[in-house]
Amino acid sequence: MQQDCIFCKIAAKEIPVQPIYEDEQLIAFPDINPAAPVHVLIIPKKHIASILEIEPEDQFVMGQMLSAIKRIAEQAGLADEGFRVVMNTKENGGQTVHHLHCHILGGRAMTWPPG
Ligand code: 5GP
Ligand code: ZN
Repeated sequence: MQQDCIFCKIAAKEIPVQPIYEDEQLIAFPDINPAAPVHVLIIPKKHIASILEIEPEDQFVMGQMLSAIKRIAEQAGLADEGFRVVMNTKENGGQTVHHLHCHILGGRAMTWPPG
């Protein structure tokens, strides 16, 4: 756990969230400032700052994350119309919380390219 990391605090239950999905290694919860009708964040409980800090031993949890995204999207009713998964990385990517997370966005049509 990294001090002053808000997502580590969520993973440690120091900040309560309504979990949408949880297992030993992952937790998913609604974004506090939703950008779409469905906006879920999924994080590894282990502190990984971004895609750039993924180590070989993290490969399993990253695969689990993709499987969880599928399950969450299906349960949220997003499978028919589709959805978007985003991992913002560092400044140019617009990353504001430096603990790796996937945004799952759905419930409306997304535009491309993103702003
Ligand atoms: P980023 O900009 O780093 O890709 O995304 C960070 C996301 O975390 C933002 O969409 C922001 O609304 C969300 N967020 C920041 N702090 C909290 C929090 O304390 N609780 C929840 N549920 N979401 C948060
Ligand atoms: Zn963290």
